[in-house]
Amino acid sequence: MTEPIAPSATAPAATLPTNPTTMTTAATGDLQEAFFSAMALLGKADFRLDAKFKRYASLRATLERNGTTLRANVSDGYAAGGRDVLVGLALDLTARVFRMHVPDNAYTQAYYIFRKQKSASDLNSALKKSRGRKRHLRAQGKWHDLNDIVLRMTREHALLQTLSVPKIGWNTKGGKRILGFYDESAHEILINENLDQKLVPFYVLEYVVFHELLHAKHPVKHGRERRTVHTAEFKAEERQYPLYKEAMAWLARNRVDRDWD
Ligand SMILES: [Zn+2]
Repeated sequence: MTEPIAPSATAPAATLPTNPTTMTTAATGDLQEAFFSAMALLGKADFRLDAKFKRYASLRATLERNGTTLRANVSDGYAAGGRDVLVGLALDLTARVFRMHVPDNAYTQAYYIFRKQKSASDLNSALKKSRGRKRHLRAQGKWHDLNDIVLRMTREHALLQTLSVPKIGWNTKGGKRILGFYDESAHEILINENLDQKLVPFYVLEYVVFHELLHAKHPVKHGRERRTVHTAEFKAEERQYPLYKEAMAWLARNRVDRDWD
């Protein structure tokens, strides 16, 4: 038997925003990824996660914490909102379960607006407004300067030359599992500070930066389409990193979980 050690957070119920007959199948992977993004942003990366879409009649969403596991049950009505709405929902519920301040950003705004069922143009202007907010990024680490790496990689790799170069910084809240994170809303990359160590080969750090730069190159399509983070095209480009096999082998040897990045 499991007992929740923190109260569950619950979003208010509302009516479905879309006609259920036109809704595409909700993808659990998208929801899992949204929660992992939220957990990375809130510094709760080391929790296990079980997130599922449910066919609720209303826009219900709950999150419960049992020890080191977070269990989310979310109405599949939220799937139609796209990634920003799902990350916003995950941020709201996760912050509340941990009794943290709920961040006011593009994601949570998208979530609140979706819940209020405002029009798509309202959503876009709200997203644009909140993009003005700045996060302080520190690219210079103890051993490596991330700006140098990005500068060199965008020069050296033909497939990155058309990229609008994102900002990059070290992430001190990434936990052990999340190596890198591309924040699409802010066009910023965060790299786990644990990679700024002498014992981590340079090509492993470079590979993680390369991977996140590819996320910046392949923005996720919003809307009703099923979202695939690592498309076949993405994976084919990723393999063009010259030391791809070596980097993967090092990560496997050192038992670095890459279940989400
Ligand atoms: Zn990835």
